[in-house]
Amino acid sequence: MSSTAELRGTAAPLEKTPLETYVPPAKPSLIGLSRAELAERLGEIGVPPRQQKMRVQQLWHWIYFRGARSFDEMTSVSKETRTGLAERFTVDRPEVVAEQISNDGTRKWLLRLPSGDALQKAHEVECVYIPETDRGTLCVSSQVGCTLNCAFCHTGTQRLVRNLTAGEIVGQVMVARDRLNDWADRETPHGNRLVTNVVMMGMGEPLYNFDAVRDALLIVSDNEGIGISRRRITLSTSGVVPNIARAGEEIGAMLAISLHAVRDELRNELVPLNRKYPIAELLQACRDYPGASNARRITFEYVMLKGVNDSLDDAKLLVKLLKGIPAKINLIPFNPWPGSRYECSDWEQIEKFSEYVFNAGYSSPVRTPRGRDILAACGQLKSETEKLSARERQALRAMAMTD
Ligand code: SAH
Ligand code: SF4
Repeated sequence: MSSTAELRGTAAPLEKTPLETYVPPAKPSLIGLSRAELAERLGEIGVPPRQQKMRVQQLWHWIYFRGARSFDEMTSVSKETRTGLAERFTVDRPEVVAEQISNDGTRKWLLRLPSGDALQKAHEVECVYIPETDRGTLCVSSQVGCTLNCAFCHTGTQRLVRNLTAGEIVGQVMVARDRLNDWADRETPHGNRLVTNVVMMGMGEPLYNFDAVRDALLIVSDNEGIGISRRRITLSTSGVVPNIARAGEEIGAMLAISLHAVRDELRNELVPLNRKYPIAELLQACRDYPGASNARRITFEYVMLKGVNDSLDDAKLLVKLLKGIPAKINLIPFNPWPGSRYECSDWEQIEKFSEYVFNAGYSSPVRTPRGRDILAACGQLKSETEKLSARERQALRAMAMTD
């Protein structure tokens, strides 16, 4: 259903169209390819079909288990195959252009992705690592910018530049393992890895980039490679209803829903996609989510906005709405960003809200803001990538010609 303002064309559209598409570099990376696709590439360099399965196993192990950064390192692969691969492909990940470390240990990486056009500003996304005592969580991006425009989210103010490829999504996990020296056989305080969990909660709406997100998460959870189990991967969506069931069937990760409001009128304003998929439809999709159970609850994220959605009446209605859904509620103190028009609820109010929800039988942890000093907390991510205007492009071309 469209609002009157939207029908009149005065409101921003609900869904933005990507400005760019991915243009592969001359020598593409093998990262992000499935086993079948790797076999095809091996065929292209002349590896006979009877050898392909074995070579794929080797490549998979080197790339996704050991984190090899060049074909040279892959000593169990024949020299001839390595040379053939290196002529046509790489195992490059997104390039780290900046690393910031928060005083609470959170790390944020700014990653550069190929833009396919030298006259174009590079495509950039952010990826955040949050260490905790019992786990280490990596917050991964799925789009440069976001299809949607939630009112309280910094990324939502950015234009949608493009969808990430599966390789660029898996590549973020690999960059984190590279930077943290977290590949095979590493001993750490919690098991043998620093990155133990992945959340699709960075820039972008993962369910508007479904295929790439699915292909990437299947690789991340493959236990002969990166090996982060699907129970430790959470996909967060603002409510793209038609793709929720698909996510359950084809990915099988844990589901988080960015609810943030319990009445359609307010949710239409905070999460404008609600005008297309209102609360009742969204909650029905949650009831039908394959694999949800008391042991595998759906997380409902609820950002605490002072005087907007944080009353006890809201808490009561929330509990009522979630009846019958195996749910937990994650209260997120609003993280401000330059130009944001909301304030974070008072701590006292967050506690009251949380207590009500808890007494009604729901786990209701308040998400401790992490990395606020480096703008790495929820909803604060935004990269500078925007498409250059025709005039800027012309000026750049002219400069290039006079060089
Ligand atoms: N697009 C997806 C995932 C990325 S956002 C989604 O919307 O679910 C990850 C979480 O951060 C979402 O719950 C989102 O609503 C929340 N968030 C966005 N901006 C925020 C802000 N400024 N403060 C706190 N949480 C925010
Ligand atoms: Fe996009 Fe999620 Fe931000 Fe909404 S909250 S604009 S869906 S990243």
